[in-house]
Amino acid sequence: MISAMVDEVFASVQGEGPWVGQRHIFVRFMGCDLRCAYCDTPDAVKSVPDAGAGNCRAQVSSGSFERESVPNPLSPTGLSALCSRLRIPGLSRPVISLTGGEPLLHRPFLQEWLPSERKMYRIYLETGGIHSAEMGALAGLIDVVSMDIKLPSATGQRAHWDEHRKFLTATEGTERFVKTVVSGSTVPEEILFAARLVAEQDRKVPFIIQPASGPLSPRAESLILFQDIALEILEDVRVIPQVHKMLQLP
Ligand code: SF4
Repeated sequence: MISAMVDEVFASVQGEGPWVGQRHIFVRFMGCDLRCAYCDTPDAVKSVPDAGAGNCRAQVSSGSFERESVPNPLSPTGLSALCSRLRIPGLSRPVISLTGGEPLLHRPFLQEWLPSERKMYRIYLETGGIHSAEMGALAGLIDVVSMDIKLPSATGQRAHWDEHRKFLTATEGTERFVKTVVSGSTVPEEILFAARLVAEQDRKVPFIIQPASGPLSPRAESLILFQDIALEILEDVRVIPQVHKMLQLP
């Protein structure tokens, strides 16, 4: 049976991007093929999917921060059960946020699991924005895409411009926004390049500038400059910090 390595399942306030403040059920998949300098989920990144190591830390109910250890890997029905106990009864349609790590590395699992979940939840994908083939295969199962554009200055890694361009094409027709993390090392030319890349496809795609937290954070003046640059090209450019960290939420 198909299964996946999952680092955590928990409910919290969405702390990033234009959906900030909503209640989401987060499913954090293990494994990532990037190594961003600002990564705040090192446990999920280090683990290799299907390596058979590490338990899933699963919140036991929506009203408690208590977690239990659940053996990995998880089956689709096992993961559904961990999510359903975090649902809030009522009129809202709950949201499952697929995060990581890089959720798209789990494409076969997601293809099997998401059709049943989508009947009850909105499916929100947080991704590094480089796996266009996987995105294309899953597009019909995802409601919202939060796609990163990785700036070399902030990640400390190579650029991924071509992968990002193809990925953006694969998200056409799905609700989407682009998020780019900026650090104290980010230069205006990178913001210009990223904004142009988005504008090639659609000037209306929201573009979120997210300041890195802690010692990597950029100066306030830089954030205004970056927003000015992007606003000359795109219609909707916002500076949004990681709100869950301010609130000391997971
Ligand atoms: S893509 Fe996300 S999970 Fe992977 S290293 Fe970068 S910040 Fe961490």
